[in-house]
Amino acid sequence: MTVYNFSAGPAVMPKPVIEQIQRELPSLQGSGMSILEISHRSQRFQDIIDTTKQDLKDLLNVPDNYEILFCQGGGTGQFAAVPLNLANHHRKIALLDSGHWASGAANEATNLGYDVDIVGNTKADNYQSLPYPDHELSSSQYDYLYTTINNTIEGTTYHNDILPDHKDITLVGDMSSNFMAEHYNVSDFGLIFAGAQKNLAPAGVTIVIVRKDLIDPAAHTPKILNYEPYVKKDSMFNTPPVFPIYAAGLVAKWLKGLGGIDAMEKINRQKAAVLYDYLDESKLFKNHVKPSERSLTNITFTTGDADLDAQFVDFATQHDLISIKGHRSVGGLRASLYNAMPIDGAKALVDCLHQFEQTH
Ligand SMILES: *Cc1c(COP(=O)(O)O)cnc(C)c1O
Repeated sequence: MTVYNFSAGPAVMPKPVIEQIQRELPSLQGSGMSILEISHRSQRFQDIIDTTKQDLKDLLNVPDNYEILFCQGGGTGQFAAVPLNLANHHRKIALLDSGHWASGAANEATNLGYDVDIVGNTKADNYQSLPYPDHELSSSQYDYLYTTINNTIEGTTYHNDILPDHKDITLVGDMSSNFMAEHYNVSDFGLIFAGAQKNLAPAGVTIVIVRKDLIDPAAHTPKILNYEPYVKKDSMFNTPPVFPIYAAGLVAKWLKGLGGIDAMEKINRQKAAVLYDYLDESKLFKNHVKPSERSLTNITFTTGDADLDAQFVDFATQHDLISIKGHRSVGGLRASLYNAMPIDGAKALVDCLHQFEQTH
């Protein structure tokens, strides 16, 4: 029996990685100890975190003037950490409200006392398209422009070729749900963050990639959210999430083995096309995002009838296609096609959609 897990997060991981974890779990590298029990101060773990960081650096082509941090607290933790560290000059942030997670980030910064200027939003369009700034933004006015690069719930993406104009302002990108799924230039961003549980590793670690000059040693924030101690102590001023970092390291090696992010993106484009091509032809199921803004990793669709959508969720579940239900805030259906989802998963879903369509 093959089960395909389309969950938006925690989400599918590469099968070879799960198998490697299973093999290594009782005894890491012949140590007689599990990764679940070794000290984060051991040389073994130091090697793991060093290698993981280097592999991420290689895969993403991270320039030397950036730091890679392993944080905790998820994407939500970064909703607070980013302003606390980066918004201390003007205490004013420009933000593009592209959906649920962008609004969440806006609310958190507002609650912390920062002035959040929503410079574009597509609320009226139910966030089925991407907002762009309604006026020119300058770093003399704002600390940064905050964007949610892939909108996990709404299924839209600022792909590399349609990023908002950011010449005169620091760009911050939440890449939680398309991290290492497609190509971006790290140097376009002041800061990128990604909770691991969408496209990298099990829940528990959040990757932050930040340009060194943006790290403010005087940032007035709880230590756990302050980037400075992470930099100084190599993400180990306290106990890091040892197991998710180890798993992220294995996934990074798996990605390198596939040929890196450009190769991964090619596969992801083929995989997403299997589903989008079907949806564009279907008389029953529709995706409402225009092609240039469509997500490769989170594909939303609906029959337009909540009962029929629910019937399809049951039908798909009977066929071992799991977690097809859309996010509770928007309803409808959603298939997450992360890096680890094989193309056969997308094909199995299309077969199932087709079968359902024939009888409804
Ligand atoms: C899931 C998600 C978050 C929230 O992540 P947590 O780790 O659950 O806090 C934030 N942003 C985006 C784009 C997400 O997909």
